Amino acid sequence: MNSPNLQSVLSKLISLTNERDVAALELSLAQALFDLIAPLNGDTAKSITIYHVKDIRKQIFSEVVIGKEPDGYAPSLAMKQKLTACFTSGESCLFVQPEMNSVTLYPLNNAVGNTMAVIGIEAEVCEPHLHETITMLLQIYQNFTGLINDNERDTLTGLLNRKTFELKINKVLSQMHQATNRKGDKAGQLFFLAIFDIDHFKRVNDEFGHLIGDEVLLLLSQLMTQSFRDTDLIFRFGGEEFLGVFECSNAIDIEHILERFRKRVCNFEFPQVGKVTVSAGYTEISAYDASSQVIDRADLALYYAKNHGRNLICHYERLIAEGSLLDNKKIGDIELF
Ligand code: GH3
Ligand code: MG
Ligand code: MG
Repeated sequence: MNSPNLQSVLSKLISLTNERDVAALELSLAQALFDLIAPLNGDTAKSITIYHVKDIRKQIFSEVVIGKEPDGYAPSLAMKQKLTACFTSGESCLFVQPEMNSVTLYPLNNAVGNTMAVIGIEAEVCEPHLHETITMLLQIYQNFTGLINDNERDTLTGLLNRKTFELKINKVLSQMHQATNRKGDKAGQLFFLAIFDIDHFKRVNDEFGHLIGDEVLLLLSQLMTQSFRDTDLIFRFGGEEFLGVFECSNAIDIEHILERFRKRVCNFEFPQVGKVTVSAGYTEISAYDASSQVIDRADLALYYAKNHGRNLICHYERLIAEGSLLDNKKIGDIELF
């Protein structure tokens, strides 16, 4: 029997702890698990799949498959139900399929016990000692993601912090670049960046004190995570400024998403404080943008919202098209010559 030896397990640990990014860490973990089960399964089918939730109510998941062609691989209805149970309970389970290899589903929980992803291990042979090794690797993964999260996240709100923004936006830009190169000029998914700023927040601090002000920041960040999807990237960018990077199939969707959030905030009753509103400026991200250009455009739209009554969401490209704002680039060109 081929049991994983100490050296191979340690080498997996080294590659795991070399990662500084949760997505890369997940892939590295899946690769390490594949290397563990493959020698035991010879030529028989085996694969590792990482599942993420796209929409838990509709049981829609995204998959990254290692060890097998992803073409034609779609989870059955029964598998979707098992996956939903694994995501909601945070406990591993076995999925037995007639005339197929069984799949063991392991939840990847973060430091506070939320299931961020599920790893499915499809193998003919998965012996008890291997299950123990896998469980231990997952525990190390969980501890390590805790460390990464501490580093990536803002302590008050738990949102991504400013330091992480550059890393994440560069990933989005390179993803857009690759998509553009693959499809020529044909655009695929669109990405938008929005900057949110609380209206008259100084008044909240002045009237109710800094601690209540902090509570407003916390509640607002919770409204953000409830309103936006798990795949949207939400940052606390400064004191009472937040930033969102959204992937959408069209410009109408983003308008609805941001408007819905604005309304949700202005209808929310903040304890002691009462009503608080936010303004935001947003812009479409182009594959050829520098991150500073995207922020400058969203900031101009936010500035416009602040000067036109607040509690307002403004779209940079629309303001330019309407002639309400002068094109940033053109102003730059004029100054240049
Ligand atoms: P505007 O509508 O123009 O945005 O008005 P504003 O009063 O919100 O003005 P501005 O955005 O310039 O003010 C930001 C204020 O946010 C200043 C500071 O007192 C407060 N602030 C910044 N960081 C924190 C924080 O971490 N906690 C608390 N309680 N307040 C903060
Ligand atoms: Mg501000
Ligand atoms: Mg403000």
